[in-house]
Amino acid sequence: MTTLKIAISKSGRLSDKTFKLLEDAGFLFQMTNRRLMAKCQNFPLELLFLRPGDIPEIVADKTADLGICGQNSVAEKGFDLDQIQKLGFGKCHLSIAVPKNFKGTLERKRIATSYPKILQKYLDEKNISASIVTLSGSVEIAPNIGTADGICDLVSTGSTLKTNGLIEKEEIFSSEAVLIGNKNLIKEKERILEKFLLRIRAVLLAKKFKYIVMNLKRENIPKLTEILPGLKSPTITNLADDNWVSVSTVVEEKIFWKTIDKLKSIGAEGIVVQNIEKLIK
Ligand code: AMP
Repeated sequence: MTTLKIAISKSGRLSDKTFKLLEDAGFLFQMTNRRLMAKCQNFPLELLFLRPGDIPEIVADKTADLGICGQNSVAEKGFDLDQIQKLGFGKCHLSIAVPKNFKGTLERKRIATSYPKILQKYLDEKNISASIVTLSGSVEIAPNIGTADGICDLVSTGSTLKTNGLIEKEEIFSSEAVLIGNKNLIKEKERILEKFLLRIRAVLLAKKFKYIVMNLKRENIPKLTEILPGLKSPTITNLADDNWVSVSTVVEEKIFWKTIDKLKSIGAEGIVVQNIEKLIK
């Protein structure tokens, strides 16, 4: 049977969230031998567990059809891959950071990084001639031990920089987790990918909305359409008391509280808010 092989991180920042996304989308896995691979029990899908930085290459050489990794890894490896879907987690940026007492410019300075290609591209664009010290990890200690004058590393909360007495100087690349894939999959795999994407996107879309149910005086129904303009129409159900109705609708997370304030201003009461598990367009 044709199966889609997807390479995901076996450890590190993206690993738990990747697995949770797959589980939320309804894919069930047999967890024996999780360290290497896992078969999906209810979909033609197989997971390969790899180091995050190796995922673009494994997809590019077709060992896997798909991969989930950071955009930082994709850009650094430079393979010609499709970035099929941004996944909304693992958000961070690649930044140049220097010791607190650093003075002057980066010109002729040494910068330690695990991302030499992205950094070189940036330095070329800005016409800065600095030298790059490539390290595979623990980049943040390089200035303290005298290997480099500054670093270029991923920053999420900024606490690693702070702990090492560094401050962010320039943000050079923004990244989040992304689903990558080979450009030319065979027809059968394309068909499976479509179904896979429908499920993943249903989970991603659901996170952007809340489902709300409320009571409203019947006379205030016309005012609802001004407050909820983006929706076709809310569902309105009669209540035992003829003067009141129950209204249910979905509200976008980013305007949620603003919408609630407006609904309250037209007399909405008993507003129940629920997370949505999946939302299919
Ligand atoms: P933070 O202290 O939260 O700023 O995180 C910085 C450390 O975590 C650095 O060692 C980074 O290489 C690593 N890191 C931060 N965000 C990510 C990410 N999205 N993916 C992989 N590594 C990350």
